[in-house]
Amino acid sequence: MIDIHCHILPGMDDGPKHIEESVEMAENAVSQGINTIIATPHHLNGSYDNYKPDIITAVAQLNDRLQADNIPLTILPGQETRINGEFVTDLENNQLLPLNETSSYLLVELPANHVPRYTKQLLFDLQLQNIKPIIVHPERNKEIIENPNILYDLVSNGSLTQVTAASLTGKFGKKIKKTTLQLIEANLTHFIASDAHNVSNRGFLFEEAHTILEDEYGSTMVYWFMENAQYLINGEMIIGEAPQKIKTKKVLGIF
Ligand code: FE
Repeated sequence: MIDIHCHILPGMDDGPKHIEESVEMAENAVSQGINTIIATPHHLNGSYDNYKPDIITAVAQLNDRLQADNIPLTILPGQETRINGEFVTDLENNQLLPLNETSSYLLVELPANHVPRYTKQLLFDLQLQNIKPIIVHPERNKEIIENPNILYDLVSNGSLTQVTAASLTGKFGKKIKKTTLQLIEANLTHFIASDAHNVSNRGFLFEEAHTILEDEYGSTMVYWFMENAQYLINGEMIIGEAPQKIKTKKVLGIF
């Protein structure tokens, strides 16, 4: 299995501090059936900046260590970039790191509490540069939880999205789990990833998430998500069902 969003590189962000912790995460991932991880350190999120060359070097170092320890896990380079006004300029200046370096997929993180007004335009502009933006963990964004159809608009305009395994298991609370299921049912998400930061309170939870997915929607859905991750790594297109609007409760009004 492939995990497309994970903070496994040491000393780069709020993931592992030392390589020993990265190795511990790697062993844990392998025990859950993961054989490939895209390492996606935070970039420009206000706390951490991780530029392309540093990520590529750190990925090579971790792969060397995993090989030396005979841990059957491959790390590929990636980045989780916070949405910002310089996105397209940074992309043109070769500062951003698409997933698996050469694919056209890029992880885009929204702020936790809102969706900036320029989001729709920016995600459109990225696509004009042949980039497929993947909005990470929309189910944890406060504004999207309140109005999930914001995401309908963005997905209809060509963006992809990734939900977190832990959200599906209910680790972030009932509301986030409910939103996650709503997004899956409305064809508004295309990937499930761990966004793991450690092996304790932000682990992989892949097996647990897949069990829930299979119980709710059957094994076809599990395979669909797994295949999408493989297509992404291969640089192939992800084809999903047409996105649907989510029915939300009507606000009381005067009729
Ligand atoms: Fe993340």
